[in-house]
Amino acid sequence: MNILFFGPNGSGKGTQGAIIKERLKIPHIETGVIFRENISKGTELGKMARSSIDRGELVSDEITIPMVLNRLKEDDCINGWLLDGFPRNLNQAVKLNEALMREGIDADVLIEIILDREIAKKRIMGRRICVNDNNHPNNINIEAIRPDGDKCRICGGELRKRDDDQDEAAIDKRHDIYYDTENGTIAAVTYYKDLSDKRGVPAIVELDGKNSVEEVTKELIEKLGNVSSK
Ligand code: AMP
Repeated sequence: MNILFFGPNGSGKGTQGAIIKERLKIPHIETGVIFRENISKGTELGKMARSSIDRGELVSDEITIPMVLNRLKEDDCINGWLLDGFPRNLNQAVKLNEALMREGIDADVLIEIILDREIAKKRIMGRRICVNDNNHPNNINIEAIRPDGDKCRICGGELRKRDDDQDEAAIDKRHDIYYDTENGTIAAVTYYKDLSDKRGVPAIVELDGKNSVEEVTKELIEKLGNVSSK
Protein backbone atom coordinates (compact mmCIF):
# COMPACT_ATOMS: atom_id res chain seq x y z
CA MET A 1 0.00 0.00 0.00
CA ASN A 2 1.34 3.45 -0.95
CA ILE A 3 0.36 6.11 1.55
CA LEU A 4 0.67 9.89 1.60
CA PHE A 5 0.67 11.10 5.15
CA PHE A 6 -0.31 14.69 6.00
CA GLY A 7 -0.69 16.65 9.21
CA PRO A 8 0.83 19.88 10.54
CA ASN A 9 4.05 19.75 12.53
CA GLY A 10 2.98 18.71 16.00
CA SER A 11 -0.09 16.69 14.98
CA GLY A 12 1.39 13.33 15.99
CA LYS A 13 2.33 12.16 12.53
CA GLY A 14 5.62 10.67 13.74
CA THR A 15 3.85 8.64 16.43
CA GLN A 16 1.12 7.32 14.16
CA GLY A 17 3.60 6.82 11.30
CA ALA A 18 5.66 4.46 13.45
CA ILE A 19 2.51 2.41 14.10
CA ILE A 20 1.57 2.21 10.41
CA LYS A 21 5.11 1.23 9.51
CA GLU A 22 4.99 -1.66 12.00
CA ARG A 23 1.55 -2.89 10.99
CA LEU A 24 1.97 -2.70 7.24
CA LYS A 25 5.69 -3.48 7.15
CA ILE A 26 6.42 -0.61 4.81
CA PRO A 27 9.20 1.97 5.08
CA HIS A 28 8.34 5.25 6.79
CA ILE A 29 9.99 7.83 4.59
CA GLU A 30 10.25 11.18 6.38
CA THR A 31 11.88 13.93 4.39
CA GLY A 32 12.69 15.89 7.56
CA VAL A 33 14.54 12.87 8.98
CA ILE A 34 16.50 12.35 5.74
CA PHE A 35 17.60 15.99 5.89
CA ARG A 36 18.54 15.82 9.57
CA GLU A 37 20.57 12.63 9.02
CA ASN A 38 22.43 14.33 6.20
CA ILE A 39 23.11 17.37 8.36
CA SER A 40 24.55 15.27 11.18
CA LYS A 41 26.73 13.32 8.76
CA GLY A 42 27.92 16.58 7.19
CA THR A 43 27.04 15.52 3.61
CA GLU A 44 26.74 17.95 0.70
CA LEU A 45 22.95 17.53 0.81
CA GLY A 46 22.98 18.35 4.52
CA LYS A 47 25.06 21.48 3.95
CA MET A 48 22.67 22.68 1.26
CA ALA A 49 19.58 22.00 3.39
CA ARG A 50 20.77 23.32 6.74
CA SER A 51 20.10 27.05 6.52
CA SER A 52 16.57 26.62 5.13
CA ILE A 53 15.71 24.13 7.86
CA ASP A 54 17.06 26.37 10.62
CA ARG A 55 14.88 29.21 9.38
CA GLY A 56 11.80 26.98 9.18
CA GLU A 57 11.69 27.39 5.41
CA LEU A 58 11.37 24.64 2.84
CA VAL A 59 14.48 23.20 1.26
CA SER A 60 14.30 23.99 -2.45
CA ASP A 61 12.19 21.77 -4.69
CA GLU A 62 15.25 21.22 -6.94
CA ILE A 63 16.94 19.39 -4.06
CA THR A 64 13.91 17.80 -2.41
CA ILE A 65 11.91 16.38 -5.32
CA PRO A 66 14.70 14.23 -6.89
CA MET A 67 15.79 13.11 -3.43
CA VAL A 68 12.31 11.71 -2.69
CA LEU A 69 11.70 10.25 -6.14
CA ASN A 70 15.04 8.39 -5.90
CA ARG A 71 14.21 7.14 -2.43
CA LEU A 72 10.91 5.68 -3.70
CA LYS A 73 12.88 3.61 -6.22
CA GLU A 74 14.86 1.78 -3.53
CA ASP A 75 14.23 -1.95 -3.03
CA ASP A 76 12.42 -1.65 0.29
CA CYS A 77 9.63 0.36 -1.41
CA ILE A 78 8.56 -2.48 -3.66
CA ASN A 79 5.58 -3.45 -1.46
CA GLY A 80 4.57 0.07 -0.58
CA TRP A 81 5.67 3.15 1.31
CA LEU A 82 4.50 5.71 3.80
CA LEU A 83 5.54 9.15 2.65
CA ASP A 84 5.61 11.72 5.45
CA GLY A 85 6.61 15.36 5.00
CA PHE A 86 6.32 15.21 1.22
CA PRO A 87 4.65 16.65 -0.80
CA ARG A 88 4.74 19.84 1.21
CA ASN A 89 3.65 22.30 -1.44
CA LEU A 90 1.56 22.27 -4.59
CA ASN A 91 4.53 21.97 -6.95
CA GLN A 92 5.83 18.89 -5.11
CA ALA A 93 2.33 17.37 -5.23
CA VAL A 94 2.09 17.83 -8.99
CA LYS A 95 5.63 16.53 -9.61
CA LEU A 96 5.05 13.48 -7.44
CA ASN A 97 1.81 12.66 -9.23
CA GLU A 98 3.52 13.02 -12.63
CA ALA A 99 6.35 10.72 -11.51
CA LEU A 100 3.94 8.11 -10.13
CA MET A 101 1.87 8.19 -13.31
CA ARG A 102 5.03 7.65 -15.38
CA GLU A 103 5.85 4.58 -13.29
CA GLY A 104 2.24 3.32 -13.35
CA ILE A 105 2.01 3.55 -9.54
CA ASP A 106 -0.92 4.90 -7.53
CA ALA A 107 -0.92 6.69 -4.21
CA ASP A 108 -3.52 4.34 -2.67
CA VAL A 109 -4.38 6.24 0.48
CA LEU A 110 -4.12 9.80 1.73
CA ILE A 111 -4.14 10.14 5.50
CA GLU A 112 -4.68 13.61 6.94
CA ILE A 113 -4.45 14.39 10.64
CA ILE A 114 -6.51 17.54 11.12
CA LEU A 115 -5.39 19.78 13.97
CA ASP A 116 -5.82 23.38 15.08
CA ARG A 117 -2.71 25.48 14.67
CA GLU A 118 -2.34 26.60 18.31
CA ILE A 119 -2.58 23.07 19.70
CA ALA A 120 -0.02 21.90 17.16
CA LYS A 121 2.38 24.63 18.27
CA LYS A 122 2.16 23.68 21.95
CA ARG A 123 2.85 20.06 21.12
CA ILE A 124 5.88 20.92 18.99
CA MET A 125 7.46 22.86 21.82
CA GLY A 126 7.02 19.83 24.10
CA ARG A 127 8.42 17.12 21.92
CA ARG A 128 11.71 15.39 22.55
CA ILE A 129 13.72 13.16 20.23
CA CYS A 130 15.22 9.88 21.45
CA VAL A 131 18.84 9.62 20.35
CA ASN A 132 18.43 5.83 19.88
CA ASP A 133 15.31 5.76 17.75
CA ASN A 134 13.40 8.52 16.00
CA ASN A 135 10.26 6.35 16.25
CA HIS A 136 10.22 6.51 20.08
CA PRO A 137 7.67 9.28 20.71
CA ASN A 138 8.20 11.53 23.75
CA ASN A 139 6.42 14.80 24.52
CA ILE A 140 6.40 16.74 27.78
CA ASN A 141 3.05 18.36 26.82
CA ILE A 142 1.21 15.10 26.06
CA GLU A 143 0.33 12.93 29.04
CA ALA A 144 0.28 9.61 27.14
CA ILE A 145 3.82 9.94 25.82
CA ARG A 146 5.45 11.96 28.59
CA PRO A 147 9.15 11.04 28.98
CA ASP A 148 10.39 9.11 31.98
CA GLY A 149 12.03 12.06 33.76
CA ASP A 150 14.55 13.30 31.23
CA LYS A 151 14.87 9.90 29.52
CA CYS A 152 13.05 8.18 26.65
CA ARG A 153 9.88 6.49 27.95
CA ILE A 154 10.50 3.46 25.72
CA CYS A 155 14.22 2.69 25.92
CA GLY A 156 15.56 5.06 28.58
CA GLY A 157 17.79 6.71 25.97
CA GLU A 158 18.96 10.30 26.08
CA LEU A 159 16.45 12.85 24.81
CA ARG A 160 17.21 15.99 22.90
CA LYS A 161 15.26 18.90 21.49
CA ARG A 162 15.15 19.64 17.80
CA ASP A 163 16.69 23.09 17.29
CA ASP A 164 13.88 24.15 14.96
CA ASP A 165 11.28 23.06 17.55
CA GLN A 166 12.24 25.69 20.12
CA ASP A 167 12.25 28.69 17.82
CA GLU A 168 8.74 30.15 17.77
CA ALA A 169 9.33 32.16 14.62
CA ALA A 170 10.49 29.01 12.81
CA ILE A 171 7.45 27.07 14.07
CA ASP A 172 5.12 29.81 12.84
CA LYS A 173 6.84 29.80 9.48
CA ARG A 174 6.46 26.03 9.18
CA HIS A 175 2.77 26.35 10.01
CA ASP A 176 2.33 29.23 7.55
CA ILE A 177 3.58 26.83 4.87
CA TYR A 178 1.41 23.96 6.08
CA TYR A 179 -1.86 25.89 6.34
CA ASP A 180 -1.35 27.78 3.06
CA THR A 181 -4.32 26.82 0.89
CA GLU A 182 -2.90 28.43 -2.28
CA ASN A 183 0.52 26.83 -2.70
CA GLY A 184 1.39 25.16 0.59
CA THR A 185 0.73 21.76 2.11
CA ILE A 186 -3.04 22.13 2.38
CA ALA A 187 -2.98 22.97 -1.34
CA ALA A 188 -1.13 19.67 -1.89
CA VAL A 189 -3.78 17.85 0.18
CA THR A 190 -6.56 19.47 -1.85
CA TYR A 191 -4.79 18.51 -5.09
CA TYR A 192 -4.83 14.82 -4.10
CA LYS A 193 -8.41 15.03 -2.80
CA ASP A 194 -9.46 16.42 -6.19
CA LEU A 195 -7.65 13.53 -7.90
CA SER A 196 -9.46 11.17 -5.55
CA ASP A 197 -12.80 12.65 -6.62
CA LYS A 198 -11.90 12.15 -10.26
CA ARG A 199 -10.15 8.76 -10.18
CA GLY A 200 -11.29 7.08 -6.96
CA VAL A 201 -7.70 7.00 -5.61
CA PRO A 202 -6.19 7.84 -3.26
CA ALA A 203 -8.78 6.80 -0.69
CA ILE A 204 -9.11 9.60 1.85
CA VAL A 205 -8.68 8.95 5.58
CA GLU A 206 -9.21 11.99 7.81
CA LEU A 207 -8.31 11.80 11.49
CA ASP A 208 -9.13 14.15 14.34
CA GLY A 209 -5.74 15.15 15.78
CA LYS A 210 -7.28 16.64 18.95
CA ASN A 211 -7.93 13.15 20.27
CA SER A 212 -5.47 11.18 22.38
CA VAL A 213 -2.72 9.15 20.75
CA GLU A 214 -4.69 5.92 21.42
CA GLU A 215 -7.91 7.32 19.97
CA VAL A 216 -6.18 8.56 16.83
CA THR A 217 -4.51 5.16 16.43
CA LYS A 218 -7.86 3.38 16.84
CA GLU A 219 -9.54 5.60 14.27
CA LEU A 220 -6.59 5.16 11.93
CA ILE A 221 -6.59 1.37 12.14
CA GLU A 222 -10.36 1.16 11.66
CA LYS A 223 -10.34 3.47 8.66
CA LEU A 224 -7.28 1.83 7.08
CA GLY A 225 -8.96 -1.55 7.54
CA ASN A 226 -12.03 -0.25 5.71
CA VAL A 227 -9.84 0.95 2.84
CA SER A 228 -7.95 -2.33 2.41
CA SER A 229 -11.11 -4.47 2.58
CA LYS A 230 -12.73 -2.51 -0.28
P1 AMP B 1 9.96 17.96 9.50
O1 AMP B 1 10.82 17.00 10.23
O2 AMP B 1 8.96 17.29 8.61
O3 AMP B 1 9.35 19.00 10.38
O4 AMP B 1 10.94 18.77 8.49
C1 AMP B 1 11.97 19.59 8.99
C2 AMP B 1 12.40 20.55 7.92
O5 AMP B 1 12.94 19.85 6.80
C3 AMP B 1 11.30 21.43 7.35
O6 AMP B 1 11.01 22.55 8.16
C4 AMP B 1 11.91 21.83 6.01
O7 AMP B 1 12.90 22.83 6.17
C5 AMP B 1 12.63 20.55 5.59
N1 AMP B 1 11.71 19.70 4.79
C6 AMP B 1 11.12 18.54 5.17
N2 AMP B 1 10.34 18.06 4.19
C7 AMP B 1 10.45 18.93 3.15
C8 AMP B 1 9.88 19.00 1.86
N3 AMP B 1 9.02 18.09 1.41
N4 AMP B 1 10.23 20.05 1.06
C9 AMP B 1 11.10 20.98 1.48
N5 AMP B 1 11.65 21.01 2.70
C10 AMP B 1 11.34 19.98 3.53
